[in-house]
Amino acid sequence: MAVREILTLGNDVLKRKAQKVDDFGPKLQTLIDDMIETMRAAPGVGLAGPQVNEPLRVIVVEFGDEEEEEVPKKLYVLVNPEISRTSPESLVAAEGCLSVPGLMGDVERPIAVTVIGKNRRGQPIKIKAKDWLARIFQHEIDHVNGILFLDRAERVYKPEEEPIPEQEEAEA
Ligand code: ZN
Repeated sequence: MAVREILTLGNDVLKRKAQKVDDFGPKLQTLIDDMIETMRAAPGVGLAGPQVNEPLRVIVVEFGDEEEEEVPKKLYVLVNPEISRTSPESLVAAEGCLSVPGLMGDVERPIAVTVIGKNRRGQPIKIKAKDWLARIFQHEIDHVNGILFLDRAERVYKPEEEPIPEQEEAEA
């Protein structure tokens, strides 16, 4: 396993639609292990293939908020992820991104989503997520479609210019 370099704003890979994964062989397994290690080292709550210069539809998410939301910390690996359902209710909240250091943005997103895709062995999986976990999945799935939170934000700002609640500091 290895920590990979996280690409930042200005790199074309971040703006391109990533390719669907067909081969679940050793190369993909190494990429996934490296992405988990890179996400944890950053630290961040999510990471997508394009962020480590691999234009593949792979995301990793690790999130838990035992105190506020009673969500135990859990690692998710999704290959070829898609959002199959969204809640009609949406919420504006502050997001950051490991590929956009030093900036945050207020982004409106559905509060709950159903995500479908495959696990690292190629078996189909379906995850129902709400609140922050739902937001992180949407943020990461945006990455494999070449979309950054900056493209969706109603307002972008430097976090040091205004205090933000602690739970909104997670970067993906
Ligand atoms: Zn991001």
